[in-house]
Amino acid sequence: MRKLTDQYGREITYLRLSVTEKCNLSCFYCRSDPGKCGIEPVEGSLEVKDYLKIGRIAAGLGINRIRLTGGEPLVHPDILEIVSGLANLDGINDLSLTTNGILLEKMASQLAKAGLNRVNISLDSLDESNFRQITNGGKLASTLKGIDRSLDEGLKPVKINVVLLKGINEHEIENFVRLTLSRELDVRFIEYMPVGGQHGNWSRYFLPLDRVLEIAHTIAPLSIVEGNHGGGPARYCRLEGAIGKLGLISPLSRHFCDRCNRLRVTSDGKVKPCLFSDQELDLRPHLDHPEQLKNVLLEAIKRKPDPGKSASNSLARMKQFEGKRPMINIGG
Ligand code: SF4
Repeated sequence: MRKLTDQYGREITYLRLSVTEKCNLSCFYCRSDPGKCGIEPVEGSLEVKDYLKIGRIAAGLGINRIRLTGGEPLVHPDILEIVSGLANLDGINDLSLTTNGILLEKMASQLAKAGLNRVNISLDSLDESNFRQITNGGKLASTLKGIDRSLDEGLKPVKINVVLLKGINEHEIENFVRLTLSRELDVRFIEYMPVGGQHGNWSRYFLPLDRVLEIAHTIAPLSIVEGNHGGGPARYCRLEGAIGKLGLISPLSRHFCDRCNRLRVTSDGKVKPCLFSDQELDLRPHLDHPEQLKNVLLEAIKRKPDPGKSASNSLARMKQFEGKRPMINIGG
């Protein structure tokens, strides 16, 4: 199959598919109005058959990896049907899901049987009360049990995503890093982005990831882990003697736009060429017309931004963030 590339020569292999804007947690930095909790589908959301149509066309173009996101994808009443449908598509050889882990202990076995390959688990605190505060009432124990069950069910590699927040979970960096010593986990720190117009909050919570390396070096010698690790944005390293790996995802202080390989589809059917841009194209009018659907996806790839224009320092890069949608309406 011919490689799917954009005008800057980047190979596009990865589709992030948001299946809901709903979530069973309410992290303060993720959603604009915590009042919008609940699990009933949102007006204008795509149906199961729509996700399979989009997945099939994307696979036909050369995309071979799909990540299911949200909100919280596990609150979607048909998530197992979506997983098994996508897992059986020709050409898709990596199907993963990003979850807050709250429902994972209960669902990991069914997800694995439905064909899911692996999970990324969002976890911003290892401290019960801090976790409750960040998530507006979540139970840390549920997510920790979800991690254990995912390892037991072979949904590997299990990746932990920690959004690093100044003054909120900065003091927990060492505990997160130490998790990699004895657990088969990839613990990845992610820089805080001003998603959904949160530029005002940015300087309050943003902390460059160099802080993580400073602390990791005090624990044990670090070595870089070479390889592209599935083409994702993380840079990986490992503490001496550790079972797991440490990952750094720094879209602001050290962007990775030159190797961007993705498109995003929102749960209301818009395809986004870039997380930072406000551009989006509506797929819904074309869902029953495969050729048209293919052309809209190709148009979105044509509109991916020039990586050479991505600013190289955090503040300037922050100002380039034009996207107005809150993270919960994009899917990360
Ligand atoms: S900011 Fe846009 S171009 Fe850069 S890596 Fe993210 S999605 Fe790709």
